[in-house]
Amino acid sequence: MMLDAGAPLLPHMHRLGIQPIDIDVVFLTHFHGDHTLGLPPFVLHRIFVDKPRAITFVGPDGIDKRLEALFELSWGVDWKPVMLPRFKARYVTARKRGRVAGHEYETVRLDHGSTGCNGYRIKFGDRVLAYSGDTEPTAPLDALVDGADVAIVEATGPGDVFSHMSWEAAAALKKRHPKTRFVFNHLFSGTVTGAAKDLQVLEV
Ligand SMILES: [Zn+2]
Ligand SMILES: [Zn+2]
Repeated sequence: MMLDAGAPLLPHMHRLGIQPIDIDVVFLTHFHGDHTLGLPPFVLHRIFVDKPRAITFVGPDGIDKRLEALFELSWGVDWKPVMLPRFKARYVTARKRGRVAGHEYETVRLDHGSTGCNGYRIKFGDRVLAYSGDTEPTAPLDALVDGADVAIVEATGPGDVFSHMSWEAAAALKKRHPKTRFVFNHLFSGTVTGAAKDLQVLEV
């Protein structure tokens, strides 16, 4: 499973020892470039290096058109006649509740930019992983992480971070949900003492 797909994606997967062929579902929270632009090379790998294997993309309404447009822009005249016939993709508009690749999920609409963002609560057995993508620290985010075992939540930077969550708001969120283990990502500036290193593998 992959949660969003920012660039560079393939080098990071390689460094972590994750094979692109092993991904059978991708949850996209929204279509901003820092969450989707790893997909064109990933799809290239999937089509020409991996053996054909179905993949499901789950995301906001319009996911089929948005991703097809991205792939056509990326690969030009080669996309439709050469690559698309070999690409076994299924596009699924995320519902309030659903099931994909053996996992139950819930979608929580979060406040972010003009279009908002899909937060997901995904079940792994009896455990719940919450993933925010991009969000402001508003009430829907508390609903997203409430009771989750692990929450991967954005915390963009210190102070005023337009349409995102600040480090201060992230600390307050963690305090309101003391039983949830938080992994904060999407940091764009500065460093936090004791934070995980980039690409560090965390046992959750
Ligand atoms: Zn965004
Ligand atoms: Zn972002």
